[in-house]
Amino acid sequence: MTVRHLVSNCLVDGSGETCRMMSPVDDCVIAKGRFAGGKEADMVAATADRAALAMSDLPIAARAAILRDLAARLEAGADAIAAAITMENGCPSDQARALQVGSAVGLLRAYADLVDIHSFEETRAGFRGGSTTILRHPVGPVLGIVPWNVPIFLACMKLAPTIAAGCPIVLKPSPESARSMSIFATQLGALDMPDGAIQSLIGGADLGRALVGDARFQKVSFTGSTAAGRQVGAAAAERMARITLELGGKSAAILLDDVDLSAVRDQLFLAMLQNNGQVCGAQSRLLIPATRASEIEDFLAEMWSALNVGNPREAGTDIGPVVSKAAATRIRDAIAADLSAGGSLLSSPDYPADGAFVPPSLIRPSSANADILESELFGPVVTVQRYDSEDDAVRMANAHRYGLSGSVWSGDTERASRLARRLKTGTVGINTKNILDFGSPFGGWRSSGIGRELGPEGIDAYTETTTLLMPSAE
Ligand code: NAD
Repeated sequence: MTVRHLVSNCLVDGSGETCRMMSPVDDCVIAKGRFAGGKEADMVAATADRAALAMSDLPIAARAAILRDLAARLEAGADAIAAAITMENGCPSDQARALQVGSAVGLLRAYADLVDIHSFEETRAGFRGGSTTILRHPVGPVLGIVPWNVPIFLACMKLAPTIAAGCPIVLKPSPESARSMSIFATQLGALDMPDGAIQSLIGGADLGRALVGDARFQKVSFTGSTAAGRQVGAAAAERMARITLELGGKSAAILLDDVDLSAVRDQLFLAMLQNNGQVCGAQSRLLIPATRASEIEDFLAEMWSALNVGNPREAGTDIGPVVSKAAATRIRDAIAADLSAGGSLLSSPDYPADGAFVPPSLIRPSSANADILESELFGPVVTVQRYDSEDDAVRMANAHRYGLSGSVWSGDTERASRLARRLKTGTVGINTKNILDFGSPFGGWRSSGIGRELGPEGIDAYTETTTLLMPSAE
């Protein structure tokens, strides 16, 4: 497939570096051509700048119509996009349609509904007499930078609230998602929308840096690693651009001592290992009660050894390769380092650790501050730690630089919800794999980011307010 960029509602070839993306599944070329270069970067910024007025004038019903039209096109092309993403990052095909495409369709439709009822203007009684009217104006041209792990959904996390708020957006997806995002660009190009409402340039970090530095973007909305997010935040702050940063995670799943393991097994598997663990909110730190530790560890070890590792295109595969051989080597090295420091491998299915494959690994870490507990590995690796009391579990869950997601697993949802309220993290699921809901805020505490996406808060994140101070009636 040839890489396609969308500039001013036209599909174009890039003028940047040569692109030749190989699949981690079978080493075949899955996308080729050229990444976007400086010429396209300048064109999209100029087009977005010109489109700002038309977008802010666009009636709410027309904004919702764009989102509904895109949802219908994505749904119609779901199989091709899901298959492309399986080849790009190893997402098992059993999971790809719902995780990679169904989620994006649901999100677009949710925003089409949300914008209909959104309050862009609000009047309040003034504390100094009179009243105030708060106007929520579109912030202007937006740059949305997204990673490769759930590329279409994450692109929609940026474009849906942006269009709802009445702003043009330029997407900058990763090289790894060149195939799926080229298909997506074709779908975007077929939409009936103002010129430049949505544009897309595929390329790497250098392209991202150039776009972040362009003063025509009033807002930068970034999803990716904490390391890159720090750089993006600093560059945006230099020119006072507005930012949202959705960054890494190392979320804790707390199993309470009344958990029914068989009842939660399927959801727990997806919470930990969906998309081969390549999910920002993956529950990669399991905290288990010391009173039931041996029984739970035996259950998990049996669950792990039954995992079907292999070709992600085949039905029944639970775990495919990770995104690249380089990522696999990094993850395998991290596992080996902890095991040689005294950690124990509780279970791992018998599968060759080569190429882009990392056998899913359940590890009791070498120490309470082992690097394997601190670093986000972004692969099929889960650590298990024992806790003595609920206070202990809360302390362990909260004592981390990341605070993106978390979960509590219990036979008593009231009890789980009481404990969940003590967790210092962006979202907490109770007996569910879900890390977010389209209608409510999502985002991270501490090193997991700044700002919130989704829900009405997600629309407000693409607005600037002006407050009108109205005099008292004489
Ligand atoms: P990454 O940070 O390497 O890249 C993400 C995107 O940023 C890519 O498009 C990349 O080209 C671009 N980029 C990288 N450096 C840049 C820079 N200095 N300036 C501008 N753009 C730059 O991340 P990745 O490896 O592609 O993705 C995995 C990471 O994303 C994980 O840390 C994961 O937790 C995180 N993530 C977070 C969320 C969330 O909602 N919080 C969702 C998905 C993934």
